[in-house]
Amino acid sequence: MAVRTLAQAGITSVASLLCRYPRAWEDRSQNIPIRDFERAPVCTVVRVLDHEWFGYGVTKTLKVHVEDASARGVLICFNRPFLEKQLVPGNYYRLWGYFSYKYGVIQSTAFEIEASDIQGDAGASIAGGVSGRKQSAFGRILPVYPLNAGLNQGMLRRFIQRALEQYAAPLENELPLTIIQRDGFLPKSKALNAIHFPASMEELELARKTFIYEELFYLEVMVGKRVLERRVGTEVVVPPGTEEALTPRSTPPLSPLQKRLIERLPFTLTPGQTEAIVEIDQDMDGSYPMARLLQGDVGSGKTLVSFLAGLRAIETGGQVAIMAPTELLARQHGENATQLLEPLGIRIAFLTGNLKTAGRSPLLKGLAAGEIDLVIGTHALFSHDVIYKDLRLVVVDEQHRFGVVQRQAIMAKGNHPDLLMMSATPIPRTLALTIYGDMEVSIIRDLPPGRKPVTTHLARESNEAKVYDFVERELAAGRQAYFVYPLIEADETRDSYKDVQSMAARLSREVFPHYPTALIHSKLDEEEKRKTMEDFRKGDIKILVATSVVEVGVDVPNATCMVIEHAERFGLSALHQLRGRVGRGTAQSYCFLVYSEELTEDSKLRLKVMLENSDGFVIAEEDLKLRGPGHLGGIEQSGYLTLGLADPVRDVASLAQARTDAFAMLEVDPGLLLPEHRCVAQVLNRAAPFSAIGL
Ligand code: ADP
Ligand code: MG
Repeated sequence: MAVRTLAQAGITSVASLLCRYPRAWEDRSQNIPIRDFERAPVCTVVRVLDHEWFGYGVTKTLKVHVEDASARGVLICFNRPFLEKQLVPGNYYRLWGYFSYKYGVIQSTAFEIEASDIQGDAGASIAGGVSGRKQSAFGRILPVYPLNAGLNQGMLRRFIQRALEQYAAPLENELPLTIIQRDGFLPKSKALNAIHFPASMEELELARKTFIYEELFYLEVMVGKRVLERRVGTEVVVPPGTEEALTPRSTPPLSPLQKRLIERLPFTLTPGQTEAIVEIDQDMDGSYPMARLLQGDVGSGKTLVSFLAGLRAIETGGQVAIMAPTELLARQHGENATQLLEPLGIRIAFLTGNLKTAGRSPLLKGLAAGEIDLVIGTHALFSHDVIYKDLRLVVVDEQHRFGVVQRQAIMAKGNHPDLLMMSATPIPRTLALTIYGDMEVSIIRDLPPGRKPVTTHLARESNEAKVYDFVERELAAGRQAYFVYPLIEADETRDSYKDVQSMAARLSREVFPHYPTALIHSKLDEEEKRKTMEDFRKGDIKILVATSVVEVGVDVPNATCMVIEHAERFGLSALHQLRGRVGRGTAQSYCFLVYSEELTEDSKLRLKVMLENSDGFVIAEEDLKLRGPGHLGGIEQSGYLTLGLADPVRDVASLAQARTDAFAMLEVDPGLLLPEHRCVAQVLNRAAPFSAIGL
């Protein structure tokens, strides 16, 4: 019976029972008198004064008046009529509960109460006695477990207590002894006892620190092992992130094609771009495949860096695939590539799901025959019938838009191709370590020169006319503008939200009748979208009314106004991306966040963050704080975050230490053969996937 209930909660062995960590701990070792109910849950000894009933029939409820040495209180016994017999007036009880001041009395509906053997003075200690086999829930720090149907706190406490008594004492340490001693962690058995039934709050803290480190240590050991596997065959093992262990690699010269492209550019590369290209060239010349994440804020010029990487692969006779999440963006890359790379003799193709058979089959033939050097497209790039002659470099743009499976699918089209992932939604460094721990990271910190930071304004919906006036002046000066709305069509149930369709009509007819306006959203067909974007790029269209389809990648330097209506409805990363659509030329640009009056605390905070920050990394860190790591793109699929107590964001210091330790260990002892590391090898063996035994 108990076994089945436990199994339903995922607890199938003594080990998994012991790993059911409490979600909280109640300190019932200290006396908190009723008088102090506002400071903490009350934990005291009370004398029952008398009983009272209120309500009728099924809602008839018992009220018990109690007092301790400090004050009187009332216990409201919803659904607990049996307490009438148990709580005898005049007797003493240990009481624990949350109290509040209501209807002129200090009362509680959430309390636990237990007979006390203490007689007399109600100020006596709340130290719990052991009555029979049942251990008192008082006088100690009590674990509070996450529950599932059929389980209750008492059961889990008893089962875990039993497991600890009979099983945990001889447990071996799972961390190298040197680390335990260095950081003063608890030995495994002690830590396990203390995490469930700590003798003091200090001991609990130490147990938590120990487990947090241990989880992060194993996380980083796994990462380190993957880095090692990728680097098999190279003499020097240099895990990323261990800066002190980095041996400087020589700077490879630019290849002839890279040089030619750079010479043809009307501008010079930013220092960040140059640095990224050096790092990429080093990787691509190395003896193992590149796995690099290129991070750079919106507008930092990542596309160009990927083209330069592509040229290096093409020069050695290989093929390159650049994958973008939307057809709009893929097309824009295609146009840029045509303009920049075709003059260098690069053979370019464009492949999306919309390509009809007539155009598709010659393209596929060309790819298979190696007559195409560079293919740019969407998910279609890894359709099953797409065959590459020699795919050497895969570029994944806006990589957070793709899942792990999709990245793997495109990689499988080549024989260990180099991989360059790009992201303008910066992953905070803290998380990058965790999620992409086995990738090298290049960061472009600078924007091209001459860019002025976008000026951001908040505006109430009732002030939108002022915003329109402002935009009108920019349009008159020859500039262009985006208007973004959360909905495509009017939504009957939320008629207070504006949608692109009605707003496009209103803006073009009433507000800006003299300027050509167009509409773009995901439900339009690709050809229409393409045409609209092209016209907007050329400047034939002045106002683009859009949903968040324009969020990623779109690059029109003459656009200087971004008006986001119902800005409170968008997430931080979307707002940042949208704002990044302007400020791409040398003219001053503006972003208007128009919000409707009813703001939640959360949306207020988001708008404030946008107003006060322009750095994408800072915004991403704020986003993380507001939403927690689980919501960040890509993490859910990463499969790494099966942590119990550790939180890689909160515990980043511990994470960094664990990483350094794990990598240092693997560097001196990659096979984990030293006696000191035996315990680590054993844990890893136990955790081996079924594939290790051929399943
Ligand atoms: P993102 O990093 O957001 O993908 P893009 O690659 O779209 O940015 O580049 C934004 C714009 O900046 C493009 O118009 C591009 O031509 C331009 N650009 C890129 N590098 C430079 C540079 N070094 N100097 C000036 N403009 C640049
Ligand atoms: Mg881009």
